Amino acid sequence: MLLLQRLARQFRSARTWIGLGILAPLGMLVISGLMLLDLRRDAWDKAEQTSRNLLQVIERDIARNVEIFDLSIQAVVDNLHAPGLDAVDPAMRQLVLFDRAATARDLGVMLVIDERGDIVVDAGAVPPRKGSYADREYFQVHKGRADLGLYVGRPIVSRLTGEPMLPFSRRIAKPDGSFGGVVLGSLKLSYFSRLFDQIGLGPEGGINLYLRDGTRIMRYPHEAADIGVSIAGSSNFERFVSARNGAFIGTSVRDGVERHYAFTQVGDLPLVLNVALSTRDVEAEWRAKALGIGATVLILCGLTIGLALLFGRELSRRAAVEIKLAHLSRTDTLTGLPNRRQFDEVFAQAWKSARRTGKPLSLLIVDADHFKRYNDRYGHAVGDAVLKGLANGLAGSVHRPNDLVSRIGGEEFALLLPDTDEAGALRIAEAVHAQVAALTVGSAGIGAGAVTVSIGLALPGDRDAEASDLYRRADEALYVAKARGRNRTERAPSTGNERIGMLRVI
Ligand code: GH3
Ligand code: MG
Ligand code: MG
Repeated sequence: MLLLQRLARQFRSARTWIGLGILAPLGMLVISGLMLLDLRRDAWDKAEQTSRNLLQVIERDIARNVEIFDLSIQAVVDNLHAPGLDAVDPAMRQLVLFDRAATARDLGVMLVIDERGDIVVDAGAVPPRKGSYADREYFQVHKGRADLGLYVGRPIVSRLTGEPMLPFSRRIAKPDGSFGGVVLGSLKLSYFSRLFDQIGLGPEGGINLYLRDGTRIMRYPHEAADIGVSIAGSSNFERFVSARNGAFIGTSVRDGVERHYAFTQVGDLPLVLNVALSTRDVEAEWRAKALGIGATVLILCGLTIGLALLFGRELSRRAAVEIKLAHLSRTDTLTGLPNRRQFDEVFAQAWKSARRTGKPLSLLIVDADHFKRYNDRYGHAVGDAVLKGLANGLAGSVHRPNDLVSRIGGEEFALLLPDTDEAGALRIAEAVHAQVAALTVGSAGIGAGAVTVSIGLALPGDRDAEASDLYRRADEALYVAKARGRNRTERAPSTGNERIGMLRVI
């Protein structure tokens, strides 16, 4: 119950509302921030998963096709040693050497080249087309080394068809092991571009296939200028060849775009494949969402803070008005002195305190003498002016912070003097008479000594059971003062038996 009351009080405080109005939006901001970070992580997870899957599918396709292709090349190398092959006619020899793979759609040319670099068997023509290949890189490489196996060369333009190709070659060894030429099979680069083109990767995404020496074989989106370019030595390429596969975020040497690269070696071939997604593309959808959510949350936060501030200000204003009203309700409007209500409250407290501590408490009731006459003679306004003058005089007669001067009725005032004994109270009463004697109202021609008051003084007596007993005795003393000629102070006897003594203060 107490807790509920305390809570209710808290919620009436402007500071609580302003605090809540700021804390709640801050909480909203933190939660939506965390949520947006989570969404961003999701977008990245999805993108990374897509690249990985794509990479795997493309890698398998290339590795499998090259493997089949290489088997055909190996078959040519092996079959060249078949007994009696030299004796058969060229058309027959072509049939024996090349299987159906030689007619595959993506195959460029398939040739047997002798040790001088001349075509001796051509999968595409009988008799073979004319051409010298002694200057080709793959020819030179096989001539220089016997242990290369399948050699993948840099992209070239076919001398027979004019198309861009990737050359695959194997060495032909003579019976004594010396260089006997090469079997060349070239794969059209259009195979790769067709493979890559079917895939949507966002406006800035890309797929790249490199030779291990850094030469670009194919890129999607396809641009002729990209083919054959080497990016060897770039930090990205160093990472591509540092592991069999992996992923990282790097900036492209080609166009400066930041991308997420998922890369892998293709089978056991000297080929590196990567799928690159621009970080901007990955985050594009998320960014649009984040912008919408962020703006909405910020607007809501702004509104909440604004409303909380408004509400808090309204509460503060209301609290100030309440304080002012409370003050007004306890103040006399004419004189500005505390009114009867405040007097009653303070008197009850002072009474209790005096009872508890045993300290003296003096109560003086001051009443203007024949006040009615001023009103009758000079009018109400002058009466009011006299009352104000009286209030000033009374207020000027006391000096302790706990002394209370109040207007308790029409022309009746009370002076409550805690911790003041009879002698002290009589000195104050004397001061009151002196102050009142000095009161003048120039506009009405009221001079010094014209206004007088009568005072009834009482201190708590043995028979006083409550505060009202003390008040009643002070009032009785005042009545006696009136009866004994006014402009004087009468002290109430301290016990009920004592008769009121004659005490003229002035
Ligand atoms: P006494 O010496 O016996 O006290 O005579 P008195 O005329 O002062 O006493 P009484 O109680 O008969 O009259 C009080 C008068 O005070 C009545 C009223 O006209 C006047 N009075 C009370 N309150 C106000 C006030 O706020 N303004 C003015 N101008 N007069 C007031
Ligand atoms: Mg009077
Ligand atoms: Mg009176």
